[in-house]
Amino acid sequence: METIRKLIQTLAALLTNGYWLFPATRNIYQGPMKIICSPGLNCYSCPASTTYCPIGAIQQLLLGVRFTLESGAFYVGSYVFGSIGLIGALTGRLTCGWLCPFGLIQELLHKIPSVKFPTIPGWLRYPKYGMLLFFVILFPLFLTNEWDMGDPWFCKYVCPAGTLEAGIPMLLLQPDLRATLGLIFYNKLFWMFVFLGWSVTTSRPFCRTTCPLGAFYGLFNRISLIQLRLDEEKCTDCGICAQVCPMGIQFNKSVGSPECIGCLRCLNEACTFGAISVKCGGLDLQALNRAGLRKAQQIQAASQIDQQGGN
Ligand code: SF4
Ligand code: SF4
Repeated sequence: METIRKLIQTLAALLTNGYWLFPATRNIYQGPMKIICSPGLNCYSCPASTTYCPIGAIQQLLLGVRFTLESGAFYVGSYVFGSIGLIGALTGRLTCGWLCPFGLIQELLHKIPSVKFPTIPGWLRYPKYGMLLFFVILFPLFLTNEWDMGDPWFCKYVCPAGTLEAGIPMLLLQPDLRATLGLIFYNKLFWMFVFLGWSVTTSRPFCRTTCPLGAFYGLFNRISLIQLRLDEEKCTDCGICAQVCPMGIQFNKSVGSPECIGCLRCLNEACTFGAISVKCGGLDLQALNRAGLRKAQQIQAASQIDQQGGN
């Protein structure tokens, strides 16, 4: 299952970054696909990006909301909130585990052999909510300049995905931009190195501490259509699920936690007691799968009997 998840993560990263003409055009893709909202964190200004980033789009809407309301562009905002709201309502934070390119980058870095520190202090889980509330919503909305425009605070001062996927490639493609570099860029470069370096020793540190999109999707984990459930009668409280969890949680003690990215490693690699299941709208997907397998075996057995009878 982990191999399938990696394949899906890779496919999603390639689909959201599928514009490979950028070395020739030396600019970002601006075609019709750019109206689609990427489900994961993926910088709009990455030269290969075919979609736009939901967190960047929310800030762009809010920083100019006074004008966009007048021009009717608030429909764009409704679309962005609507699409990530729909993803959250359907899957909770599963998108982080299966579709986010920056999540994949952190997971690959964590495979580099080194000393590992699986845990992070509990209080470090909360800055991501501050990022969502202040850097994505309130600051772009209320801290405006003399032209009544705000700044995209998260993109401008923090986002390591933007620096890695857009800032550095654009500097390579357009050398003239290097003359404009200042403190803001070096601050973002610092945060990029912090999170990429930290990913080598600790699993998904950006997702666990800082990502506002993960914070948003996590709010849906208890009410989403697809959910992981615990059968308390089967759970022995052995704690093995905590040993494989990339988000550092013990599933049976935190069912529905906003930290869970739905990677299913606890289900597939840890719990041998069958205490964890995936439910879609209350239906047990594994039970459906088992029933399907049984049916297929019955059909196969019946056709073999028919063949033997015919011989
Ligand atoms: S691995 Fe399974 S049985 Fe053990 S604590 Fe986790 S959910 Fe319970
Ligand atoms: S609790 Fe299970 S599904 Fe959730 S992140 Fe941890 S290992 Fe993955």
